[in-house]
Amino acid sequence: MEPILYEFYQHMKNGKILGLCCKKCKTIAFPPRGLCRHCGNAESEWIPLSKKCNIVSVAAGYSAFFPSSPFILATVEIPEGTYFAVPLYDEFFSFSDNPDCIWEYYDSVVGKNGELFIGQNPAGAPMIAVRLCTCQV
Ligand SMILES: [Zn+2]
Repeated sequence: MEPILYEFYQHMKNGKILGLCCKKCKTIAFPPRGLCRHCGNAESEWIPLSKKCNIVSVAAGYSAFFPSSPFILATVEIPEGTYFAVPLYDEFFSFSDNPDCIWEYYDSVVGKNGELFIGQNPAGAPMIAVRLCTCQV
């Protein structure tokens, strides 16, 4: 795993939801990337995110890496002005039995509460995902 992703997941496991903010153009990356996707600058700094997000679309599909595991991919928007795509946890895509909830939110598409959490892909590597839940936000 890349050092920047390792640091990112360590922060998440400690309850810190951080994005990487480009020092040049202020574009925020979540999950982090080595270079700014807007201007290509390599200098960035960790900033805390608001812990609010909204699912703006969902699509069912298959991963080229795990063709036997269909899943639903959710596009998530956060108030800081960036989007990211993560698997939507459901019965078709299994993660560890007890994933850690790290970020609760309200899903305005389906009108239910949800949570962002650290799960595992079918190969056992950590990854962030979202799921609907009964938690109060
Ligand atoms: Zn930039």
